[in-house]
Amino acid sequence: MSKKMNMTNKILIWMVAGLIVGSLINNFASDNQWVQTYLVMGLFHVVGAIFISMLKMLVVPLVTFSLICGVCGIGDISKLGRVGGKAFALFMLTTALAISLAIAVATFFAPGQGFELAAASTGSFTAPAAPPLSQVFIDLVPSNPVAAYAEGNMLQIIFFTILFAVCILMVGDKGKPIIDMSERLNMVMMEVVNVVMHVAPIGVFALMAKTFSLQGMSMILPMLGYFTVLVGALILHGTGTLMILLKVLGRVSPLQFLRKMRSAQIFAFSTSSSNATIPITLQCVEKRIGVDNSTASFVVPFGATINMDGTAIMQGVATVFIANVYGIDLGLTGYLTVIAMSVLASIGTAGVPGVGLIMLAMVFNQVGLPVEGIALIIGVDRLLDMIRTAVNITGDAAITTIVARSENSIDMAIFNDPDAGHAKD
Ligand code: ASP
Repeated sequence: MSKKMNMTNKILIWMVAGLIVGSLINNFASDNQWVQTYLVMGLFHVVGAIFISMLKMLVVPLVTFSLICGVCGIGDISKLGRVGGKAFALFMLTTALAISLAIAVATFFAPGQGFELAAASTGSFTAPAAPPLSQVFIDLVPSNPVAAYAEGNMLQIIFFTILFAVCILMVGDKGKPIIDMSERLNMVMMEVVNVVMHVAPIGVFALMAKTFSLQGMSMILPMLGYFTVLVGALILHGTGTLMILLKVLGRVSPLQFLRKMRSAQIFAFSTSSSNATIPITLQCVEKRIGVDNSTASFVVPFGATINMDGTAIMQGVATVFIANVYGIDLGLTGYLTVIAMSVLASIGTAGVPGVGLIMLAMVFNQVGLPVEGIALIIGVDRLLDMIRTAVNITGDAAITTIVARSENSIDMAIFNDPDAGHAKD
């Protein structure tokens, strides 16, 4: 077994170890001041936060150099438009399928019916103001690219970098040194990702240990109906809908795809952030699945920002749950509005932890559900965020693979080789 395989397994083992240590602390040492101060909020918090920062640190330079190489690699601008158009259409389609599936499953199992609202321990939730849709489009164009890079605004970075890369092509021979330099910088950034992968087991352990120390499993009990239906719908979409699309549209083996996506899924699960996981998703999609850099460098970061199947599923189940709890009948028009709103909301929001709840508030406002109802599900949202983020990035990678297959820009020898993309010693 090669080194990278060991690394994925190693990360998995440390993740489970973190989960166990965290759960033990939550059960047996939750009032122990020393453990809480020095271990949970000290060691685990610091190591976990450093690890998340290390991942985020990779995102902007990696996406920039990789995208310049990708666009210049495509060479032909019409292909770029085609790849973008296909990816966008498929992202919207899978998000709509995801939320429709969630509403159907939740309507069937009806979580929240007979829920004792008064007995439920509720936190509080203040609805954030939703930006108007027109602003989402205006915000696609950065008025200051440096600010976009500094803030890590992914859609603006993608917009500017593509424009910049297209212009490198337009200046002809004079642009070649910039393409060469970007290729070298991209190689260096990929190496930085490899280095960060080596500290990943410790980082993942710390993140899991902290989360599960603070987050006992007991609060799931009163919300068991909601939790189970949501997790069921997430699994159904991740291992059903997406895999059928991969098989039918992408003509590739879904099992092989899932095997290759394991490390990115673990990262997404432990960080709850599609954005922070971009470097690992890119690495899996290019080196393990075999998608050409020209497609992956564009579709993966684009998907991490606008495609959130898992989050859409949460919105579908949460809508049905809250409607049931408050005894509100949304009717067909209400549910169609929820589907349209969720698809649109996913375009303008970044893949960062907890953003799903903010999107949910926008959806509730639109269909007239009580936004304070979100307080009911906040307690279990942290755990669900981890699972839905793993589904989100699986969707991003699945669509990237389908688009690459349709463009003939995937190396099937790499895809079929179980050891492809393993780290060097
Ligand atoms: N954490 C999710 C992501 O990064 C978004 C969400 O559902 O809150 O993809």
